[in-house]
Amino acid sequence: MSVKFADLNLDKNILSALLSTGYESPTPVQAQSIPHALEGRDIMASAQTGSGKTAAFLLPTLQHLTRRSDKPGKGPRALVLTPTRELAAQVEKNALTYAQNMKWFRTVSIVGGSSFGYQIRALSKPIDLIVATPGRLMDLMDSGKVDFSRLEVLILDEADRMLDMGFIDDIETIVAATPETRQTLLFSATWDGAVGKLARKLTKNPEVVEVERVDEQGKIEEQLLYCDDMRHKNRLLDHILRDANIDQAVIFTSTKAMTEVLADELYEKGFAANCLHGDMPQGWRNRTLMDLRKGRCKILVAT
Ligand code: AMP
Repeated sequence: MSVKFADLNLDKNILSALLSTGYESPTPVQAQSIPHALEGRDIMASAQTGSGKTAAFLLPTLQHLTRRSDKPGKGPRALVLTPTRELAAQVEKNALTYAQNMKWFRTVSIVGGSSFGYQIRALSKPIDLIVATPGRLMDLMDSGKVDFSRLEVLILDEADRMLDMGFIDDIETIVAATPETRQTLLFSATWDGAVGKLARKLTKNPEVVEVERVDEQGKIEEQLLYCDDMRHKNRLLDHILRDANIDQAVIFTSTKAMTEVLADELYEKGFAANCLHGDMPQGWRNRTLMDLRKGRCKILVAT
């Protein structure tokens, strides 16, 4: 018989939120992580996007937060670090969904592209959960605005991506500012190389959770096309994009400037193309992603 969320001894408010969301049974990464995390163990889970990893760390964290803190004062009790603002927004949204019946629950995302003032005000009070990207959190830490003395749970989501993006020093600085007594929950697509080394440094006797990879990649055909020069490359791209079977496409370029140049060129040729990169204002990035989701944008050119 498969495990149900009702078997996991979750708080009734969390359970009812899950049921109203329509989730009855945990995914494999949730079934294997949640019981250990509820016991207070550290976790090192290899899990990809789509595995249900977000709930795997949020549900035990919310359960933990239902017990009152014995430490008064300001600052967060739990921290999720994510590589991007978009992922932070998604994690925060999921937290609010699962905590919908915990009326006292307070969360804020600490990410670039939004108001410092709001974030500073949120950090000057007791707060249950912050979801942060390393860069903005470091900015606020440098100006003395973050007090981690109440922190009980630290989570790294997509740890491998954070290292790929060059956040290793920031992560080490942030972790060093948190109490040794914390619980640490780490999620990453892989533990190979530097990310595994970091994980072993940050955790104490972690439960290692490995779930079978959902082999989505099996459905992706890989092709390598050789071209003689830029003109040839652009003609090949044009040919690929005119394939009637292609509904939407993402094109990655090596530089932020190139996303704009290429998106403009494609737009001129009549494609519904937009660019996406880290220097664009947040509102613009959000609109572009919404256009992609709604199908108004057919080709996204991104870093
Ligand atoms: P994630 O891997 O965390 O990005 O989650 C992938 C998707 O699965 C999200 O849309 C979740 O809302 C959804 N999800 C998470 N847990 C469950 C579950 N136990 N049952 C069904 N869907 C879920």
